[in-house]
Amino acid sequence: MQPNKRIDSLPRCNVGNASFRTGLIAIVGRPNVGKSTLLNRLVGEKISITSRKPQTTRYRVTGILTHEDTQFIFADTPGFQLEHNSALNQAMNRCVAQSLQGVDAALLVVDSLQFNDQDRRVLNLVSGCPKLLVINKIDKLTDKKQLLPFIKNVSGEHRFEAIVPVSAKKNLQLKELLQTLRELLPESPPIFPADEITDCSERFLAAELLREKVFRLLGEEVPYAVSVMIDDYVLERGLRRIRASVIVDKSSQKAIIIGAKGEKLKTIATQARQDMEELFEGKVFLKVWVKVKRGWANNSLTLKKLGYE
Ligand code: GDP
Ligand code: MG
Repeated sequence: MQPNKRIDSLPRCNVGNASFRTGLIAIVGRPNVGKSTLLNRLVGEKISITSRKPQTTRYRVTGILTHEDTQFIFADTPGFQLEHNSALNQAMNRCVAQSLQGVDAALLVVDSLQFNDQDRRVLNLVSGCPKLLVINKIDKLTDKKQLLPFIKNVSGEHRFEAIVPVSAKKNLQLKELLQTLRELLPESPPIFPADEITDCSERFLAAELLREKVFRLLGEEVPYAVSVMIDDYVLERGLRRIRASVIVDKSSQKAIIIGAKGEKLKTIATQARQDMEELFEGKVFLKVWVKVKRGWANNSLTLKKLGYE
């Protein structure tokens, strides 16, 4: 991974500083509240994929943000899936539970004025650690005064160290969020070098970027049945040669992804390549195939191969 431009421009962290703080922070919340968007904003590079459809994030992604006196290590969790009981959803729920082990603090993200039973169930998962309630998407509120009774209700019901209204998308109040969060972290030297933004491999990030494009560029008919596998990843003198497969459930879905005269797949691959080139800061040669694997979301062997377990 190339050094992050934004972090590079900040003062290098002072490792000898006795009051330096470092902590692992879980970002939790039900699907679609904006967890991945928040992580990407905080870290300043695109690491976790986002889309309008719930359930885009299927893995734990660690984003790292290093300031002069603090290192924040974020784990983005897949949305807690409460409805369907497929092997994929069970694996995702286990992933949420795992990402909560050993965290120093949690951010419970909710969507502006909503706090429902799903939010409560997610909250139960983080009962053991200090947490902040992050009220996201406040840019959608026409009247900010609506926030006060909402905050009063929720804080009457549950104990949070603090409640911070933000907009991840419009970059509102994120500095305040980090300042408040810092207070919850233990005094400790940094764990990662100051210019590192993730501990995920390039291979993994490439797969995530490609999967994001499939989600973004397809209608409702396909995305939940899609996964991505990197078949080959070679770095030659600054050029990355990547061969990837998009895996679907049915041949009808394969046809939709490929599109008329292959146009859809071409757009997906081009956009994914552009994002990869930006993130890796180098040229990428990307070749994408579409393959049919029937029932993959319910087959635990396939899930293992795809890295869900
Ligand atoms: P996740 O499932 O919790 O990770 O949610 P995502 O980060 O994928 O975001 C879900 C949707 O909410 C996307 O369409 C985002 O663009 C949108 N979103 C995220 N943050 C904000 C925000 O602060 N304001 C508004 N209006 N939309 C947001
Ligand atoms: Mg997400």
